[in-house]
Amino acid sequence: MKLIEHEAKHLLKTSGVAIPKGILVKNRGEASLLKGPVVLKSQVPVGGRGKLGGVVVVTASEDIPAAIDTLFALDIKGYRPHVLLAEEQLYIAREHYVALLVDRTTADIRLVAHATGGIEVEGNSKKEFLNIPIDDSTLASCTKQLAAYLGYELSKIEPLLLGLYSAFITNDATLIEVNPLILTTYDDLVCGDCKMELDDAARFRHPEWNFEDTLKDTNFVVLDKQGTIATIANGAGLAMATVDAVAARGMTPANFLDIGGGANTESVLRAFERIITFPRIEAIVINIFAGITRCDEVAKAIIAAKKQIEHLPPLFIRLAGTNFEEAVELLAQENIPTLATLEECLMAAQEQNV
Ligand code: GDP
Ligand code: MN
Repeated sequence: MKLIEHEAKHLLKTSGVAIPKGILVKNRGEASLLKGPVVLKSQVPVGGRGKLGGVVVVTASEDIPAAIDTLFALDIKGYRPHVLLAEEQLYIAREHYVALLVDRTTADIRLVAHATGGIEVEGNSKKEFLNIPIDDSTLASCTKQLAAYLGYELSKIEPLLLGLYSAFITNDATLIEVNPLILTTYDDLVCGDCKMELDDAARFRHPEWNFEDTLKDTNFVVLDKQGTIATIANGAGLAMATVDAVAARGMTPANFLDIGGGANTESVLRAFERIITFPRIEAIVINIFAGITRCDEVAKAIIAAKKQIEHLPPLFIRLAGTNFEEAVELLAQENIPTLATLEECLMAAQEQNV
């Protein structure tokens, strides 16, 4: 799960990492809460916003409403923001790159840093990066190495790295990328931007997780806005096979959707919300083969979503795998039938339209 910048920064702050003072802006009316100079940042789930006009410094207060309008209207790599982050302007002396990430090949967490950060970091030569394993037992020596590498006193790097590391561990993160880490002209080290990804498989131990989670939307692909059958599946392979099976029966699939491993009510709800904006949907085919995903979680999500969305097209549901029995029981209590195979779902979907 990929967090939006303001969500990531909130977690950093909770772990004691310095972030700029800021507030969320939901509409232009809230411009009155701000005064220039202020940095306005589009809260879309993709990087490279600076180069695309998604990060603007507004100096004069009277220019703020127009800048807010511009940012809300600005499409960045296919995304428009639901909110903007308005932050105090930082006066930049130096910009660095610092990241913690899970390295699947070496099966450890790595501390990666570069002395120069900012929007051109991809251009940095690979061998200039600091790239070392980090864990509880090496935290102190990693702090020393990072301080030496970036050229700071230990006392400056200690709280930063301790905070980042604790944010990483306590939130079951797979990535925390701070770029830029800014040294201000007042000699403070502050996280200018943060990208953070959390491990979906750890969701069960984080009841507090309540994020926008727009990455799920990237797994939703519109195939034909005029299509008649919407699909919801888990795993890209099964999702593609489901789409193909719909087409093979002579029906028109409207979308591809892989709800991934951490399916929850929010993601199912959002899928339904998108599907009902398609004008000709006659049936929603749900095809879940649960491994990490649990059928009962999906069932709960379907029940909750069904209650919240009016005029939902008929659902044809096939579930298999982890916690299948519990799921069927939950759905039966709500009079929502399930079918044994995808084939039966497709047949039923087809029959109701003749
Ligand atoms: P990104 O382009 O999506 O990675 O967004 P960033 O938050 O990293 O912003 C892009 C660039 O804006 C940074 O690399 C800074 O060089 C520049 N910038 C200029 N002033 C500020 C400021 O006050 N705060 C922040 N965060 N960035 C600033
Ligand atoms: Mn950045």
